[in-house]
Amino acid sequence: MELSFLAYLRGRCRSLPSIFLGIGDDAAAMEPSDSLQLSCTDQIIDGVDFLSSSHKLSDAGFKAMAINISDIAAMGGTPNAALVTLTLPCQNSTSIAGEVYEGILEAASKYNITIAGGDISTYDGPLAISVCLLGEVSKEAIWRRSDAIEGDAILVTGPVGGSLLGRHLRPEPKIELARTLQGRCRVNAAIDISDGLSLDLDRLCAASGVGAELDIERIPIHPDAIILSETSGRTPFQHAWSDGEDFELLLTMKQQDADNLLSNHPELQLTQIGNTVGRTGLWKRNQGKLQRLPPQGYVHDLKPESPKSADTEK
Ligand SMILES: [Mg+2]
Repeated sequence: MELSFLAYLRGRCRSLPSIFLGIGDDAAAMEPSDSLQLSCTDQIIDGVDFLSSSHKLSDAGFKAMAINISDIAAMGGTPNAALVTLTLPCQNSTSIAGEVYEGILEAASKYNITIAGGDISTYDGPLAISVCLLGEVSKEAIWRRSDAIEGDAILVTGPVGGSLLGRHLRPEPKIELARTLQGRCRVNAAIDISDGLSLDLDRLCAASGVGAELDIERIPIHPDAIILSETSGRTPFQHAWSDGEDFELLLTMKQQDADNLLSNHPELQLTQIGNTVGRTGLWKRNQGKLQRLPPQGYVHDLKPESPKSADTEK
């Protein structure tokens, strides 16, 4: 299967100038650039991250690419090449690979990424799609989660919550917005919201050695969070606070830069939700007093007997 599939893929993948040698040899070869090379990897598994019984396999392929693209966006970078590994159930493996690749190639085309190589194998188990994504960013422009400074404004790039109604399968990583911001302001720290707004904000704060004082009424709640709250027994705010897979970005920058952006570029649809503070943890002010807010979200639980590899960066 692999040879004919490689021929099919080679016909469908376009190559970027930075790819010296793409699919078909023992390894891909890329031209080095003056920028830093970014690399990240993330895998999704049937029954864990999607359900092949109810989700389209092309959506699963798209998602596997998009979650990695979001990580490159969170570094302020631009993606350029992906290595894709499919682990396929034995039955119908060729048609499954074809369907998954429809979504992978759609994302590759939309975000200008070359599929530079990968691997396909079959076994008696559920479908797993693993993407290793490469990208680039200049040394001066890289965004780290650890560079927030006390007093920074905290911004979110769009409404959150309720992604489970469908957006989690077709995320829209904020690559374009990251590129626009690179030309307009200095972002001090950034992270993408994969596991929940509060949990990812807490991670950014912990990495930077700061805390956050939030104006929780300003957290933009997605309409899906309101719809989901009608049946979930949770409030729209709880969904916005802790649902994962929104793939919006959390950004921190000087308050003055945030003021400029918010007043001069409303088209970017950024919302300030608070400021970083010296006291660690997440806080809100209630009648003048600070009240601690526990972060909540999706935690990748690793049980000692689990063979799954550690997910240190999602
Ligand atoms: Mg991430």
